[in-house]
Amino acid sequence: MEEQGPDEGDAAGPGAVRFEPPSEAAARSIRRELALWYASNQRDLPWRRTSDPYAIWVSEAMLQQTRVDTVREYWPRFLERFPTATALASADEEAVLEAWSGLGYYRRARSLQAAARVIADRHGGVFPRELGAALDLPGVGPYTAGAVVSIAYDEPAALVDGNVERVFARLFGMEGVRGSGPLGRACWAAATFFIDRLEGAVRPSVWNQALMELGALICTPRAPKCEGCPLAGSCVAKARGNAVGIPRPKPRRASTEVELEVYVIEQGGRWLLEQRPDGGLMGGMWQFPTVEVTSSGLFPDELAPALGSKVEPEHDLIAITHGITHHRIRARVRSASLAGQGVEPAAWFAPAEAAELALTGMARKVAERLAPTRDPLFDQS
Ligand code: SF4
Repeated sequence: MEEQGPDEGDAAGPGAVRFEPPSEAAARSIRRELALWYASNQRDLPWRRTSDPYAIWVSEAMLQQTRVDTVREYWPRFLERFPTATALASADEEAVLEAWSGLGYYRRARSLQAAARVIADRHGGVFPRELGAALDLPGVGPYTAGAVVSIAYDEPAALVDGNVERVFARLFGMEGVRGSGPLGRACWAAATFFIDRLEGAVRPSVWNQALMELGALICTPRAPKCEGCPLAGSCVAKARGNAVGIPRPKPRRASTEVELEVYVIEQGGRWLLEQRPDGGLMGGMWQFPTVEVTSSGLFPDELAPALGSKVEPEHDLIAITHGITHHRIRARVRSASLAGQGVEPAAWFAPAEAAELALTGMARKVAERLAPTRDPLFDQS
């Protein structure tokens, strides 16, 4: 879910989704039931055992659009390599992208490093405690700022992510479209209403994490476990019997089919890889030389650099399918040779060296499929 703030989205109009605040007594009951449930049902996640704002921030950045089990694996490794915001600020971008490789959405890694530089320069290397200062960091939106400030510092900062949106939408029967401006605005109003009424009875860190945990474990998208839900007695959607239909799904966007040819050019046990230009899609990442197949011929992958030398395809190796936001990619992976010498900005890598690079998701798939027959050291994790 893209980070959306309390005031963003479509203007309110006819049919706008509204949050109708519950009575103070009902709000108290919701607060108490949820906090009690969280105390005995929360998962033991590694980032819940620290109060280091930097470590919590890294976990939040990783958890956006990545599964918890994957983050469990990457988070400690990333912190070992970059243990503080200052260490991250001064690291080579290539090293940061490599540590992030496998989590996808590399823009997040770049934003993380850009924000770490601001933290090192202006905040003495410590993630700011004040919500406004957190929101000023590059790439830090209302959700992330609210999460770090509330979880690390127990500041009463509201947050809404996909889980919280679903819980509030169902709890208060707000029938909007998932991720839309009107529903987002209504859910931020609900989040602010509750965070302002914790009255010292529940810590902001507990409240916010309890809401997210309920969405992750009980109030799940397709099969909410209403019978075991601590909020069942207050829930409008449960009473109406339409929990699964709330929030309404976004209209599906058709995905674009893309056909690629990927060339594996090998010399002396090394692969030729090219680096994508900075600033573009997956900028700075490495891939096998790639062309797009269109009805009018073969073209260099739109944003990838030309190799500067003619590639001569030889025979088919494997076929790969790969999905990137709204694109379904089919790639024919072929062995190939170079007709000339000029290969800038490409370079040769042994499979084990390639495994250490920030590879595109497609390149990693190709390398993992081809490497076992060439180099048992290739790390397939
Ligand atoms: S009762 Fe069901 S729909 Fe309502 S909050 Fe709980 S799990 Fe979600």
